[in-house]
Amino acid sequence: MSDLRELYQEVILDHSKHPKNYHKIENASHQAEGFNPLCGDHFNLYLKVKEGLIEDVSFEGAGCAISKASASIMTSIVKGKTIAEATKIFKKFHEYVTGKVDQSFDIDSLGKLAVFSGVTEFPVRVKCATLAWHTLMNALENKIGIVTTE
Ligand code: ZN
Repeated sequence: MSDLRELYQEVILDHSKHPKNYHKIENASHQAEGFNPLCGDHFNLYLKVKEGLIEDVSFEGAGCAISKASASIMTSIVKGKTIAEATKIFKKFHEYVTGKVDQSFDIDSLGKLAVFSGVTEFPVRVKCATLAWHTLMNALENKIGIVTTE
């Protein structure tokens, strides 16, 4: 298990140093700002959605390694997916990191998101790992204002 932990940490650090989709989308159809005051993570999320399909997604901002890696991985996962698919993935991930699943839960079913399994032991970190997803949901619902994890 410790080898796996190290691998997960490496993946998180790599994504935080070299985030994917880290830029602004001009003419975004959806946009939202996410803020986690507990840690200071602060991101802007941009989306291009057409007929329920997330054609493009990107982010900009600053935060801890976990929040930045989460935004990087989230954008790479949801790009090309429908809103319904993205919502389903988020719900599963959220249930997992907030401890709402039982022991029969198959962590492999989380795919790339399995790298965040370590945060389940640290409730403060759960907010870092889910900020980008909450911001995504808010952007898709077209709510105005800043999402905070509080
Ligand atoms: Zn953070």
